[in-house]
Amino acid sequence: MRQQLSAGNWKMNGTTAQLDELRALVAAHKAPGCAVLICPPATLIAAAADVARGSSIAIGAQDCHAAASGAHTGDLSAPMLVDAGATHVILGHSERRADHGETDAGIRAKTEAAVTAGLVPIVCVGETLAQREAGETLKVITTQLNGSLPDAAPAGLVVAYEPVWAIGTGRVATTDQIAQVHDAMRAALTERFGVDVADATSLLYGGSVKPDNAAEIFATSNVDGALVGGASLRAADFSPIVTALSDASQP
Ligand code: PEP
Repeated sequence: MRQQLSAGNWKMNGTTAQLDELRALVAAHKAPGCAVLICPPATLIAAAADVARGSSIAIGAQDCHAAASGAHTGDLSAPMLVDAGATHVILGHSERRADHGETDAGIRAKTEAAVTAGLVPIVCVGETLAQREAGETLKVITTQLNGSLPDAAPAGLVVAYEPVWAIGTGRVATTDQIAQVHDAMRAALTERFGVDVADATSLLYGGSVKPDNAAEIFATSNVDGALVGGASLRAADFSPIVTALSDASQP
């Protein structure tokens, strides 16, 4: 069955001192009842992998290039991230779609590169406030989902629904809004890839997940975990979110 995953996205935050937060997480979650992932900035991946070695916490990246190597100054390829110790990679985050003009086709190529290198892709989709208010949410989500995923769905795929208007704003989607999108994503995955792949895909919610709203979100239909930004920077905030998912995952 699919994995329940509590994933932290540190974004462009943290120098080596930030690794103390990872050490605290490792100490606090020796046997969590869910998968736990931290995606630090690329400069910290190798050091974070050292800190997390032998623990139950995995380390991921926040982006990768679609090519395995070549003349792409400043970019990092999926094999390089694997070499540094990453096991997962976030792709198509709305901040990259907005700041770097990333398209569904480009994200699909990156997803293929990640899978080829052995990384688990966490493919992000999400509507803007204007799109939600125009009643376009489900159309936007299914278009992004179809365009960003390769035809051969990777085993262990992770998809994160992150409404753009809820990221870093403190504004959380209601559980009804989350359920509507997550149910639609599961249906779209079933239609395209079949029920086995759809059932094996972990669907994360992201957007101002905090210790005080995590349990309610994890109890929502078709939510298999969270992608957490701001609240993943401090172990004291992220740890209760991991515990809430572990509790929600118990049979
Ligand atoms: C994110 O950027 O993936 C995110 C969900 O951020 P935050 O939790 O801070 O809203």
